[in-house]
Amino acid sequence: MPVDYQLIIVGGGPAGLTAGLYAARGRVKTLLIEKGATGGQVLLTDWVDNYPGFTEGVSGFELMDKMTAHVDRFGLEKKFAMVSGLDLLGEIKTISLENGDQLSCRSVVLCTGARPRTLDVPGEKELTGQGVSYCATCDGPFYRGQEIAVVGGGNTAIQEALHLTKFASKVTVIHRRDELRATKILQEKAFANEQVDFIWNAQVQTIEGDANGVNQLQIGLTDGSKTTLPVTGIFILIGVVPNNEILPMDQLQTDAAGFVITDTEMETSIPGVYAAGDIRSKNFRQIINAAGEGANAELSAEQYLAGLK
Ligand code: NAP
Repeated sequence: MPVDYQLIIVGGGPAGLTAGLYAARGRVKTLLIEKGATGGQVLLTDWVDNYPGFTEGVSGFELMDKMTAHVDRFGLEKKFAMVSGLDLLGEIKTISLENGDQLSCRSVVLCTGARPRTLDVPGEKELTGQGVSYCATCDGPFYRGQEIAVVGGGNTAIQEALHLTKFASKVTVIHRRDELRATKILQEKAFANEQVDFIWNAQVQTIEGDANGVNQLQIGLTDGSKTTLPVTGIFILIGVVPNNEILPMDQLQTDAAGFVITDTEMETSIPGVYAAGDIRSKNFRQIINAAGEGANAELSAEQYLAGLK
């Protein structure tokens, strides 16, 4: 039966773009579907210092701009649309778009990524964009000379706390335990930075503010006591949740958190369906991993398609 494409890639972050690059160079009839701008979460990253080959580092925006230009050079077909559903079980896979269109293909690479986890405390939703932020790169410059808070103890929280000291006069890291999860080198930098302060064994309970934005946080400590922290901004950097809402969770095998399980060649529990990047169940979510997995997923898909012939 004829199909619209041999391969459809859902999502245009580093994983999707790398899969797209390999597919375009491999002359596989491929479509990449992306809901917004290509680049994914990296677009929200201020500076990438650990992508091989960029010896002086590169901004998240420039890196993704280059990855997009790279797929364009090889003529990858891209479509900017919202996917509303996928039926992946048969030999022919169907992808439905919000505008009612349906696309068919023989193989799919899922690269839908992940998004920031929220605290789900009073004031968070109401003050998002008015003092509550999930992106230090995007919003840091608004807090020049002000006192702000960062929630979390992982690499993102500590790296971004350090970045925010370029703008804020003081950055208080609020962490729910008494030791950081972040790598030692980041910890050392944060402990050595006089602008970075810590509140340990602490959870933000309420974010308070008014029409002008956030003005203080109510914090509960594990010993049962409470404290108030006056700040004008709070950056919530406590990890990621999978962008799996459009995925057929009744068809795909996922982990307890909803990330897609694959084998070492990126194949999901469904033949011909692959996953790459932050949507995959795995330990480390790095740009370089996402790109590598995107390449691997596409090569696996090519092998699968060759087997169908
Ligand atoms: P993460 O490593 O999962 O850390 C999340 C942090 O938030 C943890 O400290 C966790 O506390 C805390 N947390 C989670 N839920 C919370 C809640 N409801 N309330 C309060 N605190 C909460 O996430 P991440 O820092 O975003 O990093 C994600 C991945 O990207 C990791 O693999 C990381 O290594 C990688 N990354 C690497 C770099 C780099 O290499 N330069 C930079 C950024 C990110 P607990 O520690 O108590 O669990």
